[in-house]
Amino acid sequence: MIQKPKGTKDILPSDSYKWAYVEEKAKEILENYGFKEIRVPVFENTELFERGVGDTTDVVQKEMYTFLDKGNRSITLRPEGTAGAVRAYIENGMASLPSPIKMWYMMPMYRYENVQKGRYREFRQIGAEIIGTASYKADVELICMADQIIKKFNIPGVTLNINSIGCPVCRKKYQEALKAFIGSNIEKYCDTCKTRFEKNPMRILDCKEKKCKELNQGAPVILDYLCEECSTHFENVKKALEKLGINYVVDSGIVRGLDYYTKTVFEFVSETEGYTVLAGGRYDGLVEELGGQKTEAIGFAMGEDRLIDIFEKYNETNDVKMRVPDLYIASIGKLAEEYAQDLALKLRKNGIYVEADICERSMKASLKYADKTGSKFLIVIGEDEVNNKNAKIKNMATGEEKEVELNIDEIISKLK
Ligand code: ATP
Ligand code: MG
Repeated sequence: MIQKPKGTKDILPSDSYKWAYVEEKAKEILENYGFKEIRVPVFENTELFERGVGDTTDVVQKEMYTFLDKGNRSITLRPEGTAGAVRAYIENGMASLPSPIKMWYMMPMYRYENVQKGRYREFRQIGAEIIGTASYKADVELICMADQIIKKFNIPGVTLNINSIGCPVCRKKYQEALKAFIGSNIEKYCDTCKTRFEKNPMRILDCKEKKCKELNQGAPVILDYLCEECSTHFENVKKALEKLGINYVVDSGIVRGLDYYTKTVFEFVSETEGYTVLAGGRYDGLVEELGGQKTEAIGFAMGEDRLIDIFEKYNETNDVKMRVPDLYIASIGKLAEEYAQDLALKLRKNGIYVEADICERSMKASLKYADKTGSKFLIVIGEDEVNNKNAKIKNMATGEEKEVELNIDEIISKLK
């Protein structure tokens, strides 16, 4: 038997309704904040991610699905959504549209990861980007929206951690201090950290290796090095969140895994599961880095697979259920079968979920199947019922039976 590749999953009909629910509710919130959907290619030119995500990041150095296509171009399956969204923004001249641009996406992403709980090679993200504003108010609005999305799904034990990682100006001073701290021990760090020391020492703080984490204890924190502008920006964000009643914890350890971040960064962490469900931050330099005009922006991405895993745990008894038929029509004899088919078709055109036999089942087997589908109502028709245009409709939950005239309006009114 051919099996699915490691790190991928099948979302089966018995589960897909939960995904549809989460996506529908998330979409409602995103659209209420004025975000519009963007869809970008599954694959891009590799250079986009090398430049956009950063060539000293884990994603680019270790996790990308990169290959040469038949025309010898280097192609990469998108590992994240922001680079593609920003490329599309620049390439399609969206800078000339009324600003800011607010966009959302729900897309699968591809990373060659160590597969474990909450960490897959194909996974889905729900993301949002605001492009074209430097104001702290955009940070606040985006974090509020993320908070609302997380709260919508009744997940307990989620903490909002925030930090500021400054701008290139304050980061320059900070990186010097960081290099001075790490430098004396650099031989003890992992090989990846060694390669990052010169080019991007802040990446070393995000290393997941145990020994590197230990060596990083006591490292200088960026918050002590923020320039005045970055510091004011961060204070404004915190004050506004407090005013809006959104609880947060300042975690000076957040540096984020992608190079493009500046100023505000944040993560919604599930304490019970021990992983991040939603993460984001400001990326004021990315549009320019990818060839556009200098344009400030901020965004987040939520790990939908992780959200669903937690959602399932805590929402077993709520009303998110797989849809069951409103009505099953069982029929005996050729005339009734044809009649049932026609009736089913008409009811479906009126928005009713109807099942009728398409397996040539016996009446007994049909009734058994109707029961298994969890159908709410049952109508059994034979030749008499067709001729009299009258049948019995049974409420499957209570067992109660009523007479019903076999016309669409009558049936629909009985279903309600
Ligand atoms: P981590 O530190 O967990 O590797 P990251 O910094 O790589 O996260 P981002 O690139 O910011 O994550 O992605 C945003 C969110 O997408 C994460 O917080 C997580 O919920 C989800 N995510 C990231 N990688 C995976 C994966 N391999 N499988 C499932 N979900 C993922
Ligand atoms: Mg990662």
